[in-house]
Amino acid sequence: MVNQLSDHRSLVVVKLGGAEGVDFTAICKDIAALLAQGCRLVLVHGGSAQANLLGEALGHPPRFITSPSGFTSRYTDRRTLEIFTMAVNGKVNSLLVEQLQTLGVNALGLSGIDGRLLVATRKDAVQSVENGRRKILRDDFTGKIERVNAPLLRSLLEAGYTPVIAPLAISPAGQALNVDADRAAAMLAAALQAEILVLLTAAPGLMRAFPDESTLLLNLSPAQLESALQYAQGRMKKKVLGVQEALAGGVRRAIIADGRVDAPLTLALAGGGTHIG
Ligand code: ADP
Repeated sequence: MVNQLSDHRSLVVVKLGGAEGVDFTAICKDIAALLAQGCRLVLVHGGSAQANLLGEALGHPPRFITSPSGFTSRYTDRRTLEIFTMAVNGKVNSLLVEQLQTLGVNALGLSGIDGRLLVATRKDAVQSVENGRRKILRDDFTGKIERVNAPLLRSLLEAGYTPVIAPLAISPAGQALNVDADRAAAMLAAALQAEILVLLTAAPGLMRAFPDESTLLLNLSPAQLESALQYAQGRMKKKVLGVQEALAGGVRRAIIADGRVDAPLTLALAGGGTHIG
C-alpha cells in the first residue's frame, strides 16, 4: 500500500492539522498501522482551534494579524503565549500521545522548547496591515526556526519512540516562542533528511481555484510552487512555504492531503492529495 516510500524504514514527517474536521482518531489508527509495517514517523501537530477556544474561555480571545505580503498569523502577546502553551502543548499534545498509547504506539510528547529541539529567533517587530494601514507590533512572541536538534530526535527514534511535537520553539536566550506548525514540520523534515513530508489538513489538497474541489492539483514541480503561493489563501500559504523550505532542504517529496478521511496517511502515501517534488 505504501507505494511512495523507497523502503519501509523510510522516515516520514507528518503534520496533523488543527482545523475542525480533521479526524485525529482515524489518523492515530492509521499511524499505528503504518508503524506496525516498519515505517518511522515523526508527528507534528497544530492546535489553533483549541487555543482559540481556551482564549475565549479565559477572556483573552485570539487576534490575527496579516503581514504586508499577505501571510496571516496569531498575534502572540505573553498571555496568548501562555494560553497557546496550555492548549497546544498541554491538551492537544497529551491527548494525542494518550490516543497513540492506547493503540500500542510508544508515543513521546514534547515541544520545541524541550531539549532545545527547535531554536528560533524572535521577530522583535512584526508588521501588521489593518484597514490598509501598516502597524508595527513589538510585544509579539513569535519565532522563526533557525536550528533543529536532530540528534535528540534520532536518539528517540532509535530507542523506539514515536515523537509527537507541539509547535513551540525556544530562543537562544531560552524564551518560549510560538511557531507555525507547518513550517516547524518542514524544518524538522529537512533536518532529519526525511524522505517525505505530509501535511494533513481539512481540504483534499491544494486547489487552483479554492474552494472548487474540481481544481485540485495532483502533481506540482518545485518550480510551480512560486505561482501556487498566489492562489493559496490564508494559512494555506504557510503550507506552500513550508513545502518549499522542506524541498530546498533535501526532502524528496511533500504531500498536502486530506486529514478528514479514513486512513488519511496511507491514502496520501498511496498517491492521494497534492504531491510536490
Ligand atoms: P490546518 O489547521 O490544517 O493547519 P488551516 O485551516 O490553517 O489548516 O489551512 C488550510 C485551509 O486553507 C484549508 O482547509 C482550506 O480551507 C484553506 N485554503 C485556502 N486556499 C486554499 C487552496 N488554494 N487550496 C486548498 N485549501 C485552501
